[in-house]
Amino acid sequence: MSQRMQQGQPMIIMGEDAQRVKDKDAQEYNIQAARAVSEAVRSTLGPKGMDKMLVDSMGDVTITNDGVTILQEMDIDNPTAEMIVEVAETQEDEAGDGTTTAVAIAGELLKNAQDLLEQDIHPTAIIKGFHLASQEARAQVDDIAESVEPDDTELLQKVAETSMTGKSSELNKDLLAELIVDTVKAVTVEADDGSYVVDLANVNVETQTGRATSESELLKGAVIDKDPVQDDMPTAFDEADILLLDEPIEIEETDVDTQVNIESPDQLQQFLDQEEKQLRQKVDQIVDSGADVVFCQKGIDDMAQHYLAKEGILAVRRTKKSDIAFLRDVVGGNVVSDLDSLTQADLGYGSVRRDGDDELFYVEGLGDESHGVTLLLRGSTDHVVDEIERGVEDALDVVSTTVSDGRVLAGGGAIEVELARRLRGYAGSVGGREQLAVEAFADAVELVPRVLAGNAGLDSIDMLVKIREAHENGDTRAGLNVFSGEVEDTFESGVVEPAHAKEQALSSATEAANLVLKIDDIIAADELSTGGDDDEGGAPGGAGGMGGMGGMGGMGGAM
Ligand code: ADP
Ligand code: MG
Repeated sequence: MSQRMQQGQPMIIMGEDAQRVKDKDAQEYNIQAARAVSEAVRSTLGPKGMDKMLVDSMGDVTITNDGVTILQEMDIDNPTAEMIVEVAETQEDEAGDGTTTAVAIAGELLKNAQDLLEQDIHPTAIIKGFHLASQEARAQVDDIAESVEPDDTELLQKVAETSMTGKSSELNKDLLAELIVDTVKAVTVEADDGSYVVDLANVNVETQTGRATSESELLKGAVIDKDPVQDDMPTAFDEADILLLDEPIEIEETDVDTQVNIESPDQLQQFLDQEEKQLRQKVDQIVDSGADVVFCQKGIDDMAQHYLAKEGILAVRRTKKSDIAFLRDVVGGNVVSDLDSLTQADLGYGSVRRDGDDELFYVEGLGDESHGVTLLLRGSTDHVVDEIERGVEDALDVVSTTVSDGRVLAGGGAIEVELARRLRGYAGSVGGREQLAVEAFADAVELVPRVLAGNAGLDSIDMLVKIREAHENGDTRAGLNVFSGEVEDTFESGVVEPAHAKEQALSSATEAANLVLKIDDIIAADELSTGGDDDEGGAPGGAGGMGGMGGMGGMGGAM
């Protein structure tokens, strides 16, 4: 052994800027960071939750209370906090909703874990207990859930409405919920095994500013936000053969270096004639195929536009690639990339209408194979339409997973209180230190009704006690209606949530909490941000002013 080690000095194995935090300090550091994120979104939970105004580095403003949007825009750069952001992202991908719930529960699990750690309960026991509780909770969700079929329109509309409450889309939630459910139904098919498959790829959500949201509509087929290339083209066809083209109707560029030497006016004329002939030939190919309408993804030469108009063909240029792909689903046929090989069989078949006020084309498929619907969302300004679109996209996901999953729950904290009650019963059978973790898990789940009440300006403890009482009396659907402030059967009052999203929220929150708890050693190549040395006085990772990551000032002692 070296002299230095004997003197009790640590051997230096890390760079100067490197930092190492171990054991309890590491856990504390991580838990604080994760809790800070979770607390930042908590105030947005539920219909009475507040909004957040997010300003990005370009100065663009987003006003939202959507958990995942908030966390993504917060630009967090603390690694532990990022794990919590991932919970929200997983939740968003898997369920389309419940992001705030998942993140809030993850934070509360960690808060309760911290208490257990302080009582010298080993992280391994906590992790095991949380894992068992999460498994049991999901089994109980399945037991409590009620089933729903695609034709339970009213119930599905409640699911859509519940998912939209608290968002801007809420103002028109009756109409939007109806549109959302109709949309999902339009793309639902029954599989051979009797289950339902919803294909949202057949749904195109279009937004249009200028008119009231209440004028939003569900349309069979596609909506194309483009003008005809010439005003004198026809714009309405009851039945049209439609060409989808991704080749320009322009003169083909000759080889890059080719020079044309023109020495006489005759030659110039010849050259121009040549070009004209080429364009004429392309237009003739289109005419010969029998096409009435051309949606071209690329450009269309002025001369070709003129020929097309004379032939009575409607032509649209620079159609978005995604619109062309969607049109193909709607009208059938093929997307043609070479006019030389165009045949009639490549054409799609449908009707075309134009709304003069809106300057939109409505294209409906008429073939047997036609599928695809467009949900046209309207609103007065970009901000309004954007937030409505976010709400509607989420609700579409929620309703479609509900249809394929087939199970729903009473919301407003009803499911959480029932789960907590059952988990406390289950805890006894677990025994040992894990039992304490299961109980801590039950408490954490009850965060949802507490926060819902608090955000609505109600006394959260009073409310929780009332809801628990109802559950003790066997009313498994008793929850809080934040609008009336009453404890009631929330399923009946229309606060209905998908079971799948709740299961997902429970499991991703647990996974994240356990991931954080498993870490007992942080080795960082650079200095860890602790919130104390931030120039702008805010919290690290741009979370300043949004709950921040305070409480980490004590880190210095760990070094
Ligand atoms: P999340 O991102 O988790 O979906 P939300 O802000 O959408 O968060 O809030 C969802 C919660 O709000 C759910 O627990 C749901 O049951 C509850 N909720 C929705 N509508 C009501 C209502 N009218 N009364 C009480 N709770 C409601
Ligand atoms: Mg929600």
